[in-house]
Amino acid sequence: MGLISLDSVILQSFAYSETSKILRLLTRTHGVRSVIAKGALRPRSRYGGILEPFTDGVATLHLKEGRDLQTLSGFELRRSRQGLGRHLVRFGGASLLGELVLRTASEEAHPELFDAFRRGLDALDRAADAELESAVLAEAWHLIGHLGFAPALDACLACGRAVEPEEATTFDHAAGGIRCPECAPSAPGRPLPPHAREALVRLGRRERVPLERTAAHWQLLRRFLAHHVIEGRELRSLAFLEAALTAA
Ligand SMILES: [Zn+2]
Repeated sequence: MGLISLDSVILQSFAYSETSKILRLLTRTHGVRSVIAKGALRPRSRYGGILEPFTDGVATLHLKEGRDLQTLSGFELRRSRQGLGRHLVRFGGASLLGELVLRTASEEAHPELFDAFRRGLDALDRAADAELESAVLAEAWHLIGHLGFAPALDACLACGRAVEPEEATTFDHAAGGIRCPECAPSAPGRPLPPHAREALVRLGRRERVPLERTAAHWQLLRRFLAHHVIEGRELRSLAFLEAALTAA
């Protein structure tokens, strides 16, 4: 196989041996791929320290299908996003987006996911401090939609009836949607009042929503992810992020 160039964002980067790094890349056309960057940790490496999480660039590699680890032969920097690493909540939010992609990784092309992930990182890089928490929630829910797990918020899971904006619903984490007031009493779920449901809908559209009880939003996100994206295993970045938000 020949050399190919792939639009990529680095999801993860860790040392391998004394001189090399292994990267997990989200690519525009080849899904998530693992590559080894030989010599990346040498003092005068041609990569010059740019192979860090959230860096955007064009990765050149010898792609051998059927292999788990490809060999990187070059990385042309487009955008480093170093600002994300200098702020705990921004870093935590970006790590959450990255971990969601890694946990659901495939080698299939998913250009919309790639674009949404990059837009998300840029949004977290640029968000004003006052809207940062809302931005992290919005980018996370939006990405969840691109991963194919968007919660059903318009109609009742049980009877299918469209729910009016002012109606009090319940949210069933395991089933991934809401129930109307008539169907709610006979089924599992937690109250999702109209304002919280509206906030969730708007967050999924990447709107910045003024949030009063953010703890409830994090709890809902954590419970939803446990059922639909990560199958019970904790997301390290979510725990980190919640600790960073508490400290902020
Ligand atoms: Zn119903």
